[in-house]
Amino acid sequence: MVATPDTKFKGRGKRKCRFCGTSRGLIRKYGLQICRRCFREAGESIGFRKY
Ligand SMILES: [Zn+2]
Repeated sequence: MVATPDTKFKGRGKRKCRFCGTSRGLIRKYGLQICRRCFREAGESIGFRKY
């Protein structure tokens, strides 16, 4: 685990996809906290493409 400002939230079990609510394949880069699947869909509207 890397020491990021996010670390203080560890143990809270609040790691869910913001869109579908799953906790699988989450991407916490960029502080988005979304799953890989939603990332592909929402990524476009957020500004990411083909990632
Ligand atoms: Zn999702």
